[in-house]
This record gives sequence, C-alpha cells and structure tokens, in this order.
Amino acid sequence: METIPKKQIAILGSTGSIGTQSLEVLAANDSLFEVYALTANNNIDLLIQQARKFNPEMVAIGNESHYNQLKDALSDLPIKVFAGIDSIAQIAEMQPIDIVLTAMVGYSGLKPTMNAIKAGKKIALANKETLVVAGELICELATENNAAILPVDSEHSAIFQCLAGEGNNPIEKLILTASGGPFRTKSMHELENVTVAQALKHPNWDMGAKITIDSASLMNKGFEIIEAKWLFGVSPDQIQVVVHPQSIIHSMVQFSDGSIKAQLGMPDMKLPIQYAFTYPDRLKTNFPRFDFDLCNQFTFEKPDMERFRNLGFAYYAMDKGGNMPCILNAANEIVVEAFLKEKIGFLQMSDIIETVMAKADFVAKPTYDDYVRTDELVRVLTTELIAP
Ligand code: MN
Repeated sequence: METIPKKQIAILGSTGSIGTQSLEVLAANDSLFEVYALTANNNIDLLIQQARKFNPEMVAIGNESHYNQLKDALSDLPIKVFAGIDSIAQIAEMQPIDIVLTAMVGYSGLKPTMNAIKAGKKIALANKETLVVAGELICELATENNAAILPVDSEHSAIFQCLAGEGNNPIEKLILTASGGPFRTKSMHELENVTVAQALKHPNWDMGAKITIDSASLMNKGFEIIEAKWLFGVSPDQIQVVVHPQSIIHSMVQFSDGSIKAQLGMPDMKLPIQYAFTYPDRLKTNFPRFDFDLCNQFTFEKPDMERFRNLGFAYYAMDKGGNMPCILNAANEIVVEAFLKEKIGFLQMSDIIETVMAKADFVAKPTYDDYVRTDELVRVLTTELIAP
C-alpha cells in the first residue's frame, strides 16, 4: 500500500494563541501533518513543552538569552536548536517544509514571511501586519515565486471560503464583519477612562493581548481592510465594514449580480486554521456547532468612525499607499504597548497615531529597506511623543 507523505509544517509563533490552536489542529490530524519546526519569541517554557510533545526537526527562540536553557532542556532529543530573530527567518525557508504558518506578533512577521515566500512555501497567514506593512511587496513576491497565501484571519478565511468555486466571477464588494469589541456601546466620555482590564475582555474571541487591544480600538478591523485589499485584489471602495455583535457571520462577498454569500460558524479560530492547512478539502471536526435554536437574532450596525477613529486612519493609509500603512502599524505597536503599561489612556492611542502619521516621512514607492527604516524611525518618533 502506498502511503501519502505527511505535510511538513512550520509554526512561527507557536506559543501564542494562534500557534497553540494550530498545534491542537495538527495533533488531531497527525496522520496527515507533521510538525517540522516551531519558533517562539520569549515563552521558553511552553516552547520546550511543545518541542517535547511534537518532536520537530528544529526549534528556534527569538530571544537569544534563552538559548542555553532551551538547548539543555532538549539535549536528550535529536532536535536542532537555534536562537535569534535571523534564525527564525532562516527556518522559514527550509527545504522539507510544505506550509509555513505565520503567527508572530506585528512587524516581526515580515522578514520570515518574505523568506518563506521566496522559497515557494505555502503561507498560512495569521500575521496580518505583514500585509498591512508591505502588502504590495508581499503580493509581488508571492506571484513571482508561485507561493499561495492562505488566510487564517477569520474574516478573510470566510471570504476565501465564499470565493471557492466562483472561478473568475468578479467581486463587487467585500463585507467584513466586526464584533465591535468590548466598547461598542461606550460613549466618547466613557472611552476616556476605560481600563486595560476592560479592553482585554473581548466579548466573543479569546486572543493575545496585542490583537485584543486592536479589536477594542477597531485598529484590528482597520488592518483587516488593508489585508483584504491585498489578499483579494479589490479597491478600498469595494470594502465595507459592518458591525455584527454576535460574530457568527464571519464575513461576506457580494457578486456582480447582487448575490451575497456569507460564511457562518461559531467563533473558533481552529476552523480557519484547519481550512488553511487542508484547503481545498474540509476535514471532519468535533468543534461546537452553531445552533439556530439558541441564537434567535443577528443584528447589524454601521461602525462609528467618530468614536473609533482608527478605522478612518486605516482607510486613509490604504488610499495614500506607499509607506503610510507601515507608519500606521509601527505607531500602533508602540501606543498599544504604552496603553498596556498604563502610560497612556485609550483615546490617546488614536491621538498619537494621528500626529505620527502627519509627521513621519512619506515614501511613495518604498523598497524593503524603506520599510525597515520607516519602522525604526516611527517607533522612535512615537516613543518620544508618549514620554516627552
Ligand atoms: Mn479577524
């Protein structure tokens, strides 16, 4: 009997929320998939535990000060151990790997994703900041190297699923749903004083700290608009955001005959993760099913761009193009960090981002080096504005 070789998977950012859920999906389908490489930035204890369970060919830790501890902890196993940001980018291009799942936080995902694309890997993209920062560059590279980019973000997976079987039927409009986050019904005055703990309490999705704050400020939705533009090749005026607090419709596509297709399900990231791994096939799961008897209404609202200014910033950055989305992302990473450390208030995040977007040097046709420079300079500029 002939056996089908198992797909070799690299998980970049294996200790985060998407990383751990990806490993659950792979463990449940271990006749089809094998973990080839695991990487993390800082969470050494969980990385050791994952390496001992999944026995990958190699592991890497971004923070080099953890190298000896990681090496010692795995010394009885034939696992190759690396440390440093560069090693993560190098692992992404290893020959035996079939699919690279990119689940690092923020800008750090850019270089490894570029390497994986250049090596022709299938990309299961969970790191949306990569497309926000350098969408044009990434899409050009993917076309040149014939590398497929499969969305893991639930909204984009929903759109991708709606497009299955549609051939070349043009998209008239993408309708991205948003839960509205924990502050959907808060007044401007209430938003002035919301706490970090309140912002970290997302009504429907259980995620890492950075993306949870981005969800509360709607920056996450702003990034997703930019992500959708690049993934599906549509123009900004073809992307509409609709607030749908139940988070059951994950997004929709409207076609040229006016027909709208939607993808629905329980809010569970394991589904889009698995679909990216198994596309175009669907594998049986025992995930909880949506029950129409328990949820008797879906509601929809227009997003409020006055309370949630980040959404407008994202549309502006997308229209402006060049390095403006990179400026937006770098400023956002710094203000989110400052908010989490209680150095600035919730509304100040948008105030500072707006100032940075006006002040930072604009580059109309950025190269990779321009993105690197923009990211560095904007981080410095934003940090100065926070602590003058
Ligand atoms: Mn999403």
